[in-house]
Amino acid sequence: MNLATPALMPWDQPAPEKAGLPSAFGLLPEELKALGCPNNEDSLFSLLQRPWTWVDGMPKLGKENRAFLESVADLKLPRIDEALSSEDGATKLALKLVDGKRIESVHMPRRVKNPRVTMCISSQVGCAMGCIFCATGAMGIQRNLSAGEIVGQVLSVMAKLGPGTSSKLTLVFMGMGEPLHNLDHLHRAIRVMTHPAGLNIPARRITVSTSGLVSGIEKLAKMQPRPLLALSLNATTDEARSRTMPVNKVWNLGRLRASLDAWGLRSNEKFTFEYVLLAGENDADEDADRLVAWLGTLKRGHNINLIPMNEHSQSDFHEPAEVRIQAFSDRLKSHGCFVTVRRSRGRDVNAACGQLVK
Ligand code: SAH
Ligand code: SF4
Repeated sequence: MNLATPALMPWDQPAPEKAGLPSAFGLLPEELKALGCPNNEDSLFSLLQRPWTWVDGMPKLGKENRAFLESVADLKLPRIDEALSSEDGATKLALKLVDGKRIESVHMPRRVKNPRVTMCISSQVGCAMGCIFCATGAMGIQRNLSAGEIVGQVLSVMAKLGPGTSSKLTLVFMGMGEPLHNLDHLHRAIRVMTHPAGLNIPARRITVSTSGLVSGIEKLAKMQPRPLLALSLNATTDEARSRTMPVNKVWNLGRLRASLDAWGLRSNEKFTFEYVLLAGENDADEDADRLVAWLGTLKRGHNINLIPMNEHSQSDFHEPAEVRIQAFSDRLKSHGCFVTVRRSRGRDVNAACGQLVK
């Protein structure tokens, strides 16, 4: 595995779309125009990108637009193959891609009345990063999603489960895959989904979670529109982090911390730090103290999410006892940190963090 040069790896092959044609759902209005769009390109883009105007799960295009699109692009969407509802209101969806591979997304409504929805979405089929507590990591990498597949995943799920407009939608790239290992397609998808003529989701309502691919963090820092960044820390010494998260052998904790200083935080912008609590591995008081020391000036004003390990058959790690989780959380709070213990949603249908497998 050569994490330093992800662009050269075989899974960077574009998704096998129709006869090499790009997905219609990953094209920007100016690209539709350049391809010879017969009508107003913004209007056609809106028809494609606004699922609340669709009929029977497909955009209503009209004959001329359809003929044009069919000649220059692929109109197939990821198809919902399976939907499993959890008692907590979350729905895990398995989506089938054009080549038959499957990815998963999780739909999480937050309120019953006036529902707001957080959608947890995938960026790759599998993942190359090999974190030893993660079920997706155990799958290995199969391929990147194209931008059209990333967007199509959001549109398909919205068409089926809502919300009825994108003003109620928050996106987190915390499903399958390492988003920064697929940065070009990820960023094109973000440009499409933030476009005013389409979903028009503000970039500050899109969070990209990374295991710490520093080369990607440095590139994303300079990109526009720029989403929020979440960092999966999960260990507090290089020795321990390299053991559980191989990416740390390439970019250690010091390099990772420096990349956050170079991010150039805007006023009111916050980082999210995710920390999967693994019993007996990273849940000691000393870990909490080292975490605070590593955060340094970032210990205040940002969010720390403690995620008790979701146990699964591909890993021997366990969730710590409740008293340990509380003690770890209290220790961080005593240093002035803002801490949330995230009881992962959808546990009963294997939709919780690190449990998304084919
Ligand atoms: N690859 C990205 C995003 C997907 S993983 C990343 O690693 O950040 C989303 C989150 O699930 C990460 O914070 C990861 O640390 C966490 N996770 C992985 N396996 C888990 C498990 N078994 N239990 C709880 N959280 C897990
Ligand atoms: Fe990949 Fe994230 Fe799982 Fe690590 S935790 S293997 S980076 S999906």
